[in-house]
Amino acid sequence: MMEGAIIKTYYAQHKNIDPKDIFVVSVMPCTAKKTESTRDEMYNPATGCRDVDAVLTTREIARMIKQAGIDFTKLPDEGPDQDLMGEYTGAAVIFGATGGVMEAALRTVADILEGKDLPSFEYQAVRGVDAGVKEAELEIGGLKIRIAVAHSTAAARKLLDAIRAGTAPEYHFIEIMGCSGGCVCGGGQPQVHAQDLMDIDLRSLRAKALYEEDNLMDVRKSHKNEDVETLYKDFLGEPNGHLSHELLHTKYQRREIYPDGILEK
Ligand code: SF4
Repeated sequence: MMEGAIIKTYYAQHKNIDPKDIFVVSVMPCTAKKTESTRDEMYNPATGCRDVDAVLTTREIARMIKQAGIDFTKLPDEGPDQDLMGEYTGAAVIFGATGGVMEAALRTVADILEGKDLPSFEYQAVRGVDAGVKEAELEIGGLKIRIAVAHSTAAARKLLDAIRAGTAPEYHFIEIMGCSGGCVCGGGQPQVHAQDLMDIDLRSLRAKALYEEDNLMDVRKSHKNEDVETLYKDFLGEPNGHLSHELLHTKYQRREIYPDGILEK
């Protein structure tokens, strides 16, 4: 959703394109993103557009690729087809695994608090799927940082119940993923036959692929992404600034069901 918001403002301005002439399709591991893209908050009155026009799951796009007769594994690798928002880092790649968002944030936080480009930035304590809730206390920049990572809604409930009951430590930062294993096993991902799941741990295998790609990348920290640096310098101003809040932040409220008609908007 954030990418869509930036495409229809920053990218549109830079390329001198009317945002109404841009159709954003997000390819996601998550069926819930289809509904999320229709939320009122995802409409930008300044552009008169929804941030994202359509969401395809990875399973749907895989089917479309097969239907078109494309042998994806034989395609040559290519870079992004534009020069403004194409760069990505290893920190972005690992977002798909439980603990990945936390680790990406820690890589940046540690550099900022320590005031240098730290050579050691892998946080094994937040990786893995054995525990539904992973907790760690880290020493960063002379501070003790307490963190928790939950994956699956059952684990999230356990963590949140402990916080409500006052039995959990005071955390500085919590990551919650709705799906067990994180987005690598999201509801829109390619399905695997139940019989095959007896022999493999799909969540770990998919996460391993992400950590391997992260390992191969030259840039592995979010704040080292030059395209993002330029985006803040030329357009957003500063992290947590007014425009960042307007375009990139949202809030949620408790509700039992979606109101009638929201999906038709
Ligand atoms: S963890 Fe699951 S529900 Fe949450 S964004 Fe990823 S795929 Fe969607």
